[in-house]
Amino acid sequence: MASRITFIGAGNMASAIIGGLIDSGVAPTDITATAPNASELDAIKERLGINTQADNVAAVGEADVVVLAVKPQIMRAVCEELKPSIHETRPLVISIAAGLDAATIDQWLGGGNALVRCMPNTPSLVGIGASGLYANAAVSEEQRALSTQLMEAVGIVEWVENEALLEAVTAVSGSAPAYFFLMFEAMEEAAVKLGLPAETARRLAIQTGLGASAMAQRSDHDPATLKQNVMSPGGTTERAIAHMEEAQMRTIIADAMQACADRAAEMA
Ligand code: NAD
Repeated sequence: MASRITFIGAGNMASAIIGGLIDSGVAPTDITATAPNASELDAIKERLGINTQADNVAAVGEADVVVLAVKPQIMRAVCEELKPSIHETRPLVISIAAGLDAATIDQWLGGGNALVRCMPNTPSLVGIGASGLYANAAVSEEQRALSTQLMEAVGIVEWVENEALLEAVTAVSGSAPAYFFLMFEAMEEAAVKLGLPAETARRLAIQTGLGASAMAQRSDHDPATLKQNVMSPGGTTERAIAHMEEAQMRTIIADAMQACADRAAEMA
């Protein structure tokens, strides 16, 4: 990726993506990050060897790609500050902010921009993210490929062709790490009731989540088959799964994801 990439914002998400890009071979000198706080910039410069800049406008001047990685509440002010510069150089703009649609950001930037909206999730911070991406009509094939490469630095990427589908992405991956954390929490509590020390239970539950994910990812079988394969007739797993089905676990998950997607739609 021989492009010059500027990150507006140098926080958790930006530094995770930057770290992934450097690990995947992007030269740190091709990356710039901005933030208002000098000590934050010094820290990221020292850790990752990238360029830093307190002035957002100066930082986008030569960029081919501008990643907007600030909190949604300050996005409008940041876009309005960047508008004249972006209008002149027309970089690809990628927004990772939750709840702000592509047209709104494009409008804040003066309109007519190639804009990709990305819904990442927090496991990106450990390089195992899952991002949904949407491109507006001005984005070229080459810019799409660049966006894929950028977000693949911290995990997998799936494109949606209808922006509203990012609401479904929010339900299935954006907000979903918390569903698994709830599962780990509940499994730990239940295991403690069964007599295990909390720490032992937690380690076993988390490792099992990791193992199940790895198996599901590597196997040629779908999750339903993998589940069936561990359920011997009359055995322990069959008893547990039957209980979950009777308790309408699928309905609970479907309702929770619908509520999540509805909330994402309200916020957009
Ligand atoms: P963060 O608070 O860690 O980072 C924000 C950064 O913006 C900081 O470096 C801060 O100094 C900088 N900043 C503040 N004002 C600025 C300004 N005027 N100009 C330039 N930089 C400025 O936040 P984060 O967790 O990295 O989140 C960044 C974005 O990513 C948010 O918009 C959030 O919605 C999105 N996000 C989404 C998910 C998800 O699960 N879908 C997860 C994490 C983050």
